Amino acid sequence: MVRFLREFVPRLWHMPQSGCVICHKRLRMRSMLCPSCAARIPWITDVHCRTCGKPSSCSDCPRMRRIVVRSGSAVCYDALMRDWLIRYKYKGDARLTSLFVRMMHRACGHIADRIPTVVTYVPMSQERHEEKGFDPIYGLAQGVARHMRAPLLRLVDRHRHTPQQSMLSKAARLRSVAGAFAIHEHGWDAFCRWAKRQRTEKVRVVFVDDVYTTGSTLHHCAIPVRDASAKAIQFEAVTWAR
Ligand SMILES: [Zn+2]
Ligand SMILES: [Zn+2]
Repeated sequence: MVRFLREFVPRLWHMPQSGCVICHKRLRMRSMLCPSCAARIPWITDVHCRTCGKPSSCSDCPRMRRIVVRSGSAVCYDALMRDWLIRYKYKGDARLTSLFVRMMHRACGHIADRIPTVVTYVPMSQERHEEKGFDPIYGLAQGVARHMRAPLLRLVDRHRHTPQQSMLSKAARLRSVAGAFAIHEHGWDAFCRWAKRQRTEKVRVVFVDDVYTTGSTLHHCAIPVRDASAKAIQFEAVTWAR
């Protein structure tokens, strides 16, 4: 933990910003977060369940057949992280994109692998995208793809808008996203060309999302991709919070 803080937190410090992006406190150094905001981040340092990235014991994964077999998250989704996410996702504070991406570098380390990889993301519905004018998850996926040095392709479309998963009961979450996703034709063609060029038997698709709640959104995103692919795919995920 101490080693991690020593190595990682300075990277959040040295950013070309004039004040703390969270509390707007003026800072002497060119940095992104003030020391007190940085100290309040509930990092996930010990992963208990490699499948879902949970830092404590997990009763769900051993009894479920997950398509997404491995997931890593940067932080625990507590009340403070919920506030930060609301600022980013619902109030459109785009300065948080690079902060969140930096935080997610840690999560990428949880799923590091040598299999040829494509990064993709959980998309918004078209109507929600038009209403908002930006796609916050796409912003995170761009940063993750750059960090993983992997191509970023949109593989699925969201047919219909589904309520924010973290706001629903567990049973409602499991029901709400079933059948909500389908292949995104343009990205899919690019993926097939890319997969053909890889000499390995298996390729890896990493989904990016903001919060891993039950894993049902990722599961239902992966189904059309798995069903359409001629090549074996290892599905994994990177999320900002868990
Ligand atoms: Zn601050
Ligand atoms: Zn688990």
